[in-house]
This record gives sequence, C-alpha cells and structure tokens, in this order.
Amino acid sequence: MPNAQKLTIPADRVERLQYIKRLFPQATGSFLSDAWRGGRLEALRRLNTTDIEAYGRNRNFLNGNVSKLSPYLRHGCLTLHETADNVQQRFGRASQKFVEELAWRDYWRRVWYELGDDIFSDIEDPKVALGDRLLPDFIRQGITGLPCMDGFIRDLTLEGYVHNHARMWFAAYIVHWLKVDWREAADWFENNLLDGDKASNHLSWQWVASLNSSKPYYFNKENLARFTGEKYCVNCKVNCPFDDSYEAINEKLFAGGAAGAAKTHRINLPSKDALSTHQAVAIYVHDEMISPSHPLLRRPMAKVFVFDDFLHSKWPLKRLQFMADCINELQDVEIWAGDTREILKARGIGQIITQDTPNKQLKALLAPFNPVYQPEVKFAESEISEKRLKRFSRYWEKVGAELFGEDLIVKDKKGASS
Ligand SMILES: Cc1cc2nc3c(=O)[nH]c(=O)nc-3n(C[C@H](O)[C@H](O)[C@H](O)COP(=O)(O)OP(=O)(O)OC[C@H]3O[C@@H](n4cnc5c(N)ncnc54)[C@H](O)[C@@H]3O)c2cc1C
Repeated sequence: MPNAQKLTIPADRVERLQYIKRLFPQATGSFLSDAWRGGRLEALRRLNTTDIEAYGRNRNFLNGNVSKLSPYLRHGCLTLHETADNVQQRFGRASQKFVEELAWRDYWRRVWYELGDDIFSDIEDPKVALGDRLLPDFIRQGITGLPCMDGFIRDLTLEGYVHNHARMWFAAYIVHWLKVDWREAADWFENNLLDGDKASNHLSWQWVASLNSSKPYYFNKENLARFTGEKYCVNCKVNCPFDDSYEAINEKLFAGGAAGAAKTHRINLPSKDALSTHQAVAIYVHDEMISPSHPLLRRPMAKVFVFDDFLHSKWPLKRLQFMADCINELQDVEIWAGDTREILKARGIGQIITQDTPNKQLKALLAPFNPVYQPEVKFAESEISEKRLKRFSRYWEKVGAELFGEDLIVKDKKGASS
C-alpha cells in the first residue's frame, strides 16, 4: 500500500478500476469483470431479480437460480435482515429455503463472535483422519489435471466467485483426497474470493473436514455430474478419482479412522504499538459496512475509510476494485490508503465510532482509538445458547421458528451447509 494518501475515487467506472490498479500495483489477479459491479444499487437489483421460488428447487445446480449476493452481503451493501425481510414480504412461505441459506451466514458469524480466533484452528476433534500436507503449487496454478477442479479454480481466481456446491466439492477434494491441511487451503481460498469472509469460509472448511459436524463431507462423480449438468464430465478423459460408490470412496479416503491429532494453533497477528489519544471523534467505516444506507454513515461527523495493508494486503485486485465501486456510492467519507493508525493520528482523531465486528485483527488495530462499537443490525432476535451454536440444525430450530413460525418450519433435518 502507498504511504498515507488521501484518495479521490473517480466517478467514472473505467477510470475507477484503472485508478485502483495503479494505486495497488502489488495486488494480484485479474481485473474485476463487468458482471461484478460493486455497490448497493447493484445489490438491490440482484435481490429484486433473483427468482426466489426457483431458488428453492434448483440452488444446488451450477446453473440454478442463485442470487450471487455474497460479495454484497459481505461488504455490508445489504444487511441480512433487510434481505430476508424483502423476500419474506414478496414471497412469504416460498422464501423459506432462501432465508434458511441467509441464516447460515448469520450462524457462522455468531460462532465467530463466540469463539473469536479459535475458528482458525480445529474447533472439535475430526471424525476421520485428516492430513497435514501443504497446499501444492498445482492447486494455486489450477493445473490439477481434473477439468472440474481446474474449472472451479478458474472461477475462483478469475471471477472471485464459486458456486456453493462447487466450493464444497473443491474443499472436499483438497482436504480428503489430497490430505492438505485445511487451514492453509482456507486462507488461500478466502484471499481469492470477492466474498471472502473469515467465518463463512473457515467454518465451512471445518464443516467439510468434520470439525464442526458429525461426519466429513465428500461426494462422488455421479453427484458432481448431476449438479453440474455434466459440464466437466462429458469430455473428461482422466481416470476420475471420484468415480465410485459412496461406500467405496469412504473406505478409500477414511480407512485409517479418526486422526484426532492435535494441530498447532495459528499465531495471532501482533497488534500495532499503542498511540496516545486525541480529542476528535470520527466514524470509522470498515470493510463490512460499505453502504450509503448504514445508520452510522448518516451521522453529521467526520467519516474515514482506509485501504490498509494490515487488513487488505492479501486481497486480489478485483476485490479492491469491487470495494472501490461500493465506496463510490458513499457521500462525505474521506477515503485513504495507508496505515490506519497513522492516518487517524494525523487527522487528530482520538476516538472512533464504528460497527461491531467479530474480527479481532480489526479490533486490535482500532484499540488505541477508544472505539465505541455500535451493534450490527440483527438478522434475528433469538438468543442462541452456546449449546445450540454447536450445530446449524439446533440454531435454525429457534431462528427458523422466529422467522416463519413453528408450524411452518419444514422438518428436513438438514445436517449440511449445501
Ligand atoms: C469451502 C467453502 C467456503 C466458503 N467461503 C465463503 C466465504 O468466504 N464467504 C461467503 O460469503 N460464503 C462462503 N461460503 C458459503 C457459500 O458458498 C456462499 O455464501 C455462496 O455460495 C454465495 O453464493 P450466492 O450469493 O449466490 O448464494 P445464494 O445461494 O444465493 O445464497 C444467498 C446468501 O446466503 C448466504 N449463504 C448461502 N449459503 C451459505 C453457506 N453455506 N454459508 C454461509 N452463507 C451462505 C450467502 O450470504 C449468500 O449470498 C463458503 C462455502 C464453502 C463450502
């Protein structure tokens, strides 16, 4: 990142994307594609054009009516609450499946608030043997020899978006077939996504690995072929490692039983030196709240957003460009690039007000500025006990009943995040 620099984000989109490319020459990966214009306006357009009824029937298919809202929800362009409210009002009971999927995001986020940085290590013992191999270069390069996996890596690195089912197949291939340590893989995966989110990502990898579920997630060729419409299998000539029955694959992958091997915990990033406090109070706009409709952005106070190395140095170019699109819709916010602490200090800001977050790195960064954290808009009012947080099904029993009524919840004891 450049040394502290105040930015003027160009209003013209082509110029804006070029500007971000020039500003962050170290940012890797491809340009943001036209299909992924950032911002609340685009988020609302997607929300209002997704066929929510069809979603309930076909969301597991690669060409199903998924919303592609995740980057917008991740950066706060829309809240989960308003998204659920919108579809419930328009589609009533037929929105249940979509709202249940939104609830996964809320669920993982609540687990992150509860467990903090522990989500970056195994949160339970694995139920099957896991490996500890490093992520091979052929994965980063997208040359696995398997057209399906190479296709998913292309989606990831070029678009920054991968369908949920493909994320599950890919993670299972990495963790169970290649026996790679899920943590390195999860970090790499998150850093390439437009919707990269520590809770949804790391906890989904743990779910695939069987660290927050009762069994591992794996699949076979029949399942992949069906939900991809044979897209990758039709011309595939390789000796397919997934072409077998579930029983045979289970035997092949997990014959060794549970590993239970303890893994080393991640080292937290060190917090930066404490600073002396100053008088001025400002709204600090962080990367989970980039929306002109956010209540804090309507306050008549100085507002600051910073592209900060500490937070964003690993983000690919397209994600920085996506954020610039979102930021372009904000009024009266100072946009900076550089070191957040230096910038706030130089601006004479001694205290900040911002939206609460489970992100401990961000909180450590802001700690010297006596932050006042405003609660996020709640997805649901239900208090969820620690015991219920252990599994989505227990959480949904309560939250689903709050949103749709006890009698409307379909008792499909779904133990999967698909
Ligand atoms: C290995 C793996 C890694 C993942 N990493 C991320 C991540 O970094 N960021 C992220 O936002 N999602 C992540 N997910 C969850 C899910 O795959 C994406 O949210 C979803 O595919 C986004 O596409 P969509 O917006 O079209 O979803 P839709 O199917 O249209 O769903 C609407 C919204 O519901 C939420 N949602 C749906 N399914 C899930 C789920 N399983 N978990 C959490 N939220 C869900 C998302 O906010 C999504 O935008 C991951 C899943 C897996 C298996």
